[in-house]
Amino acid sequence: MNEATLWGKGVAQLISEFSLLPPAQRVELVTLLTRMGGLKEEIVALSDGAEGAAVCASCNGACCRVGKYHPAPLDLLTCFAAGELLVTPLFATGTCPFLGAAGCRIIPSRRPFTCVIFICHLIEARLSGEALTRLSLMEEELRRLRRETAARFGRALAESFFLEMEQSGGEGVSFLTPPATEVL
Ligand code: SF4
Repeated sequence: MNEATLWGKGVAQLISEFSLLPPAQRVELVTLLTRMGGLKEEIVALSDGAEGAAVCASCNGACCRVGKYHPAPLDLLTCFAAGELLVTPLFATGTCPFLGAAGCRIIPSRRPFTCVIFICHLIEARLSGEALTRLSLMEEELRRLRRETAARFGRALAESFFLEMEQSGGEGVSFLTPPATEVL
């Protein structure tokens, strides 16, 4: 099975599991995803304010080489939760399948957690002490929300989406394993 087929199979499975969630659990999950998306946006905005996008463009994504392993199911779900289509991965590029000529093709609020929290030393050197403290607090809150969401809706949600698909031999895993609905 080639990479594009494997990716598509996993995405179809994740969409199916998401659509089968009971309404109350879906609302709970979407609320958590929305909060995480907002934090990612703020973190990227701080980095971009320190010319992060220009620094990334000049190094041509050296830290993006294994980017196909960076999205977690949680990151992909932020798109479904907002009713958006995922960015199509381009696996033949030899680098991250989401890297385009102008940088990452994924908008900040949907970008993989791994990518968002990585602030390379070139960008870090451009940030003030106050900005670094804010970044650290937002990263900690993002980590906490991911832990909380994975504990409630399934451990595999915070793992590497593509790695999980590869290791399952293309069969896929149960990404979403929410607790049984409470009976009152
Ligand atoms: S998803 Fe975007 S930020 Fe992350 S490795 Fe790929 S191009 Fe880089």
